[in-house]
Amino acid sequence: MKTYQELTKKERKEEMERLQALYDAERAKGLHLDMTRGKPDATQLNLSMDMLLQNPYDLIYSRKGTDVRNYGELAGVDEAKELFADLLGLKMENIIMGGQSSLALMYDMMIKAIVLGVYKGSKPWGQQGPLKFLCPAPGYDRHFRITQEFGMEMITIPMTPHGPDMALVKQYAESDPAVKGIWCVPKYSNPQGYTYSPETVEAFAALKPAADDFRIFWDNAYSVHELYDEEVRLADIFELAKKYGTEDNIFYFASTSKITFPGSGLAIMAASERNLDQIRPILATQTIGYDKINQMRHVKYFKTADGIRKHMKSLAGMLRPKFEMVEDTLDRHLSGYDVARWTNPKGGYFISLYVERGCARRVYQLARSVGVALTPAGATYPYGRDPDDSNIRIAPTFPEVAELKTISKILCNCIKIAAAEKYLKNFN
Ligand code: PLP
Repeated sequence: MKTYQELTKKERKEEMERLQALYDAERAKGLHLDMTRGKPDATQLNLSMDMLLQNPYDLIYSRKGTDVRNYGELAGVDEAKELFADLLGLKMENIIMGGQSSLALMYDMMIKAIVLGVYKGSKPWGQQGPLKFLCPAPGYDRHFRITQEFGMEMITIPMTPHGPDMALVKQYAESDPAVKGIWCVPKYSNPQGYTYSPETVEAFAALKPAADDFRIFWDNAYSVHELYDEEVRLADIFELAKKYGTEDNIFYFASTSKITFPGSGLAIMAASERNLDQIRPILATQTIGYDKINQMRHVKYFKTADGIRKHMKSLAGMLRPKFEMVEDTLDRHLSGYDVARWTNPKGGYFISLYVERGCARRVYQLARSVGVALTPAGATYPYGRDPDDSNIRIAPTFPEVAELKTISKILCNCIKIAAAEKYLKNFN
């Protein structure tokens, strides 16, 4: 088989006509398919419904005897902290149970740092002149929206299969006090599904930032989200940081959004004692307490960290066929053409697809015109600008398997059309 680059001009024109005919046939169907956001489908959500069927009177008292229907226990009930500590390998005294969205917590910590400062910072970030933030990319679009909203200059750090390019991270963080932090999705990264290697995690722990108020926003959103039986292990950043005396550099986040209910789950933050001593009084001004009834609902339902792991295995059974359908279809229709490459994650929520340089926006438009909504090209980069115009985030969790087959086939056709157009143009 010839790659697109190897085709003669005549062969390319013929291939283009063939692809266009397929494309027109799909467009005539008037499809409305959506693969824009990473969210669970109703079957996955149904798996947690029994959590809501518990007798509410069994949830009222925490083991300390607190009536969870009332104010109190600002940082959350002990048993919820213990559950997360066991699940994530954290210490329960380092955890704050904070509402139902980790993204909201991250946004909140960013505002607090800008307006009020962080532990050991001489001044709030916002009083220190222009601010910079490191953004491993492709990455999570909503992280980038936060730093953009607060007017920080976002510095793109290329991602590798082992994590962000640590030589660059070190260079920026250790030379410029205006660099206040970095976004990280260390396990099953959004969108590649990469897990940071032990060396990368250690390099983060060893970082000696120029700013004394630098923070690593360690967003472990996909901490227990394996697709296969084999568990991918992420090194313990707090343990390694202890070795280097850098525990204060870390703000750790996680949630049950992709475990139970997005928007109605539990979110946590973990940080060093010194960070928490600075954060707790600020939090006490902001709220008298988060939703402890929901904390008890989760604790009583799952009981142990193993209870959550077992639940995640059932979810994996639902998600695996979806990921495999996308990967198999891409393989079947694109292998050998040399017009795209993609990741094959062992967990998480996304696949990262790279099409021909300069073609991602065209692929997005072509798919849209056929009735297939994709995450906009560029969304995975700071400012929505992919310098190569090549990356597309694939979110296979929501559509049904049969729909994913249709979407993936259409996507392959759009990728080929965009590549054929590019090479035809270059030929003339
Ligand atoms: N962090 C990452 C990396 C995500 O991919 C997502 C959702 O897609 C979130 C955070 C959102 O988490 P939450 O629902 O807890 O706000």
